[in-house]
Amino acid sequence: MIKTEIIRVNPEAPDEGALAQAAAILRRGGLVAFPTETVYGLGAVIYNRVSVKNIFTVKGRPGDNPLIVHIYREEQIFELARETPAAAMVLARRFWPGPLTMILPKREGIPVEVSAGLPTVAIRLPSHPVARELLRLTDLPVAAPSANLSGRPSPTRGSHVITDLNGKIEMIIDAGPTGVGVESTVLDLTGLRPRILRPGGVTREMLEAVLGAGAVETPEALNDSRPLAPGMKYRHYAPQAPLRLLTGETRVIHTFLQERVDQARQAGKKIGVIGYDEDQGIPSCRTEVTFFSLGRRSNPAEGAERLFHLLRLCDQAGVDEIYAVAPPRTGVGEAVYNRLLKAAGGKVEEIK
Ligand code: AMP
Ligand code: MG
Repeated sequence: MIKTEIIRVNPEAPDEGALAQAAAILRRGGLVAFPTETVYGLGAVIYNRVSVKNIFTVKGRPGDNPLIVHIYREEQIFELARETPAAAMVLARRFWPGPLTMILPKREGIPVEVSAGLPTVAIRLPSHPVARELLRLTDLPVAAPSANLSGRPSPTRGSHVITDLNGKIEMIIDAGPTGVGVESTVLDLTGLRPRILRPGGVTREMLEAVLGAGAVETPEALNDSRPLAPGMKYRHYAPQAPLRLLTGETRVIHTFLQERVDQARQAGKKIGVIGYDEDQGIPSCRTEVTFFSLGRRSNPAEGAERLFHLLRLCDQAGVDEIYAVAPPRTGVGEAVYNRLLKAAGGKVEEIK
């Protein structure tokens, strides 16, 4: 156990003094958790191999899962990448600062721990004012995976980070809820065509609006259990209770859920249902059900913002089983669907 300093900052007007202290901790090799617009990150300066290794130890992260490097100035891309294809610069200009991570061939000098031995590096320039200011004050690239214990839902509130990492790292900066709520889009730019390895805050539609229709490869494997990014092979984002992801007609799903609830009552079990406002009343008036809403089905951004928080709430509520109604796969809904699929162990069930 170490003493973790927890500081609360206003995301609109971050306190310079507090962030300067955080930057000093990073520069001397400490670990700091900080908010980004996607989820909270657990940062270490990339050139400090011991601190980078510490990230893996603290999170319990498998050593073959590389880290995303965070920068605050676009030009830092040249310090990290050996080659920067034209598309990378176009995308950086359009989507940075923001939730897009680009995979590029890495320069020598980037410690192998950061890229987990791969010849590539993942780079992102976040838009959250606290992240940007912290990175500016640190003035060195910062490797930062999500600030959760490996396998647990990613943290979208300071309180989630405190639950997972208090007593394990030097500092936690709490600036409230993160906003986008799902992690960045990971886009591989090392092949012939850009490939989405992980759907996220920047949607395929947004990328193709810049690169041209059909320009982006979205591998089929994205939505089954085959891993693309090394990190996607693990059971991820998972609450403690088993989660089942359901597709099908709303009416049929509601009937199915009602049956499960009745069975659960007989077995003395508690069920959690993750769905949309429209699903709220069903199955109704059953105390064994705890309903968690992803907001309006018509607005996938609401579901993205809430998803990880809801998965943690399911744990707190102590449910025995979780049923999730599959999100519509448009816009950022694709990322919500992908995370639920991983939480469900790669399986989606069509209810007929
Ligand atoms: P996290 O920061 O915990 O959300 O995880 C970062 C994600 O980016 C993981 O799925 C990694 O496997 C992926 N990633 C990081 N670096 C690379 C890379 N060089 N090539 C492919 N995927 C990467
Ligand atoms: Mg993660």
